[in-house]
Amino acid sequence: MTECIFCKIIDQEIPSYKVYEDDKVYAFLDITQVTKGHTLLVPKEHVTDIFEYEPALAGEVFARVPLVARALEKAFPEMQGLNIINNNKELAYQSVFHSHIHLIPRYEETDDFSIHFGNNQGKYTAEEMQEIADKIRQQEEA
Ligand code: AMP
Ligand code: ZN
Repeated sequence: MTECIFCKIIDQEIPSYKVYEDDKVYAFLDITQVTKGHTLLVPKEHVTDIFEYEPALAGEVFARVPLVARALEKAFPEMQGLNIINNNKELAYQSVFHSHIHLIPRYEETDDFSIHFGNNQGKYTAEEMQEIADKIRQQEEA
């Protein structure tokens, strides 16, 4: 028997507030409701994080993101924006190890959500930026 809490939610062993379901994905309200309508979209197949996806499953899951996004926008016309977040591994704030995408509606600047993008532009020379890009590109080609 699975110990994964999201697998249990998908299998209806644990209750959830369902937002959307089809043969590939399940979407439900995040219990913490960072903002009203905060939703988690998960593949029905158990994958731990982004590094585990087969391309086909990734396509199926990510294709449903706009669908849920538009449903949120229609449900809450007062919504002013939407943050889409996918945490991978503990350091990056993943706490449930069944891959999931957070959709967090935004209503105002002071709602209960924040994100910080540092600016380290001065830290790398143009050559170092090129080296970083080359290194990543070479892995994709390998
Ligand atoms: P993360 O920290 O990115 O792994 O997100 C996991 C999310 O799952 C958190 O935002 C939790 O609030 C949410 N969560 C955990 N258990 C449940 C549950 N039983 N029902 C709904 N959301 C849950
Ligand atoms: Zn699972």
